[in-house]
Amino acid sequence: NVLASKLATAGGSRAEKTLITRDDTGTTTTYGQFFGNAERSAALLTELGVTAGDTVLVYAPKSVASLELYFGCLLAGAVYTPINPAIPMDDIAYFVGDAKPALIVSDESRRAACEGEAAGIPVLTINENDSGSFIDRRDSLPTGFDACPRAASDPAAILYTSGTTGRPKGVVHSHASLASNAEVLVRTWDFSESDVLIHALPIFHLHGLFTAMNVILSVGASCVFLPKFDRDRVLSLMPQATVMMGVPPFYMSLLDAPNLTEATRNMRVCISGSAPMLPQTHDAWKQATGKMILERYGMTECSMIASNPYDAERRPNSVGFPLDGTEIRITDMKTGDTLPQGDTGMIEIRGPNLFDGYYNKPEKTAEDMRDDGFFISGDFGRYDADGYLYVLGRVKDAIFAEAGVVMPKEVEELVDAQPGVAESAVISVKHPEKGNVPVAVIVGDAVNTSAVQSALRDALPAHKVPEKYLTVDALPRNAMGKVQKAALRETYADLFA
Ligand code: ATP
Ligand code: MG
Repeated sequence: NVLASKLATAGGSRAEKTLITRDDTGTTTTYGQFFGNAERSAALLTELGVTAGDTVLVYAPKSVASLELYFGCLLAGAVYTPINPAIPMDDIAYFVGDAKPALIVSDESRRAACEGEAAGIPVLTINENDSGSFIDRRDSLPTGFDACPRAASDPAAILYTSGTTGRPKGVVHSHASLASNAEVLVRTWDFSESDVLIHALPIFHLHGLFTAMNVILSVGASCVFLPKFDRDRVLSLMPQATVMMGVPPFYMSLLDAPNLTEATRNMRVCISGSAPMLPQTHDAWKQATGKMILERYGMTECSMIASNPYDAERRPNSVGFPLDGTEIRITDMKTGDTLPQGDTGMIEIRGPNLFDGYYNKPEKTAEDMRDDGFFISGDFGRYDADGYLYVLGRVKDAIFAEAGVVMPKEVEELVDAQPGVAESAVISVKHPEKGNVPVAVIVGDAVNTSAVQSALRDALPAHKVPEKYLTVDALPRNAMGKVQKAALRETYADLFA
């Protein structure tokens, strides 16, 4: 049972050490309590008839008990399958049908909706405050559970993609893939048992669950758990913490705080990912704190893939170098041939961190894999002369204009540099005469859109210059801070109709 034993190795000798402090209640959970509750969770899964390879669907708010259940699933050989609690209850049928769970765990407020779709599968509850019917039954059982033997290649967990480009897809990760990623991240980011991580991310997603928790557990460190990001709470926790993992909006929001310099003085590193960080945010953070945010690149299918260096120059806009053991190549979208260094193309990835496949979607998996084991990421990118990787956006967000492909990022960078612009999204909109054209959606105070347009006309070939400039109060984002370009495309679909 590779992952469970890997994660328990560091913690096993630290029974009395605090693993998690809940910021909202002040409740602490030691390593000993965490593993004990995980063992009880595993025993309850067995009692409920959940056997090795079965999926356990979790549709509940962030709680410590859910993490104990995650670990309990590893011990019992079950496949932990959390979904975003913000998913509307009407959509739960899709996930139950897709994941085919042997058990559903929800909070009380979602229980009836789950029972409506459960068709006889047990539904137990874990609430945000760590109470619920699962917990009552769990706590009546003794600790001590003999981990179910699992091969390194057996599935450990299924996570759903963010659904940015379509319906969320279930991504199966093996014990070996998750264990390898935790191990390389500990080395890459220099984690040790003395680290205290500010955990303000959700735990249904790769970032907050695997990247944060697997690293913490495998090294014997600890974390402070916030129900969700809260700027003032984070600021007041920073002086006792060493590390934060966050998404760009966390850092954008922290930049407005007057005491940021003081608060971050003892922070060892602030890591960002899940969505691109604007170079302006990098620069402003450096100005305010004297330190560079460490930006990295990952996706549900591959866990972490690339990272800016811990000990060397971190470049804004770049996601750094491939992680040790991970290969990244840039290929021609049509032929699949590897392109010369510096050219822009499809990012393809191979390594021990790759997923096993999309759950119950072998055709989709086959479509996204090359014969030599590289995963076709769907993101455009390029390397610079020093080997730093740049992610230039998703193929699905590109504008396939008649005169050529336009990568939104190259246009957005120019828009963002104009006076008054805070950020922007360039999207593809259908034009009755011109085909697909770029449209700029801009956030900012008193932006002079005609000035932006003339600046872009000077800088870009005609087909890359946005056809229209719209100002909005904010860009639509999901829980991971990702700009929802598909939603924007829908909103403005009839702009030229
Ligand atoms: P779906 O696959 O369902 O459309 P999604 O791709 O948003 O959703 P995730 O796996 O959560 O689901 O996100 C991975 C994607 O996030 C990457 O493919 C990439 O486009 C983006 N991403 C992550 N980190 C960065 C980063 N540092 N810079 C730019 N993009 C990033
Ligand atoms: Mg994706």
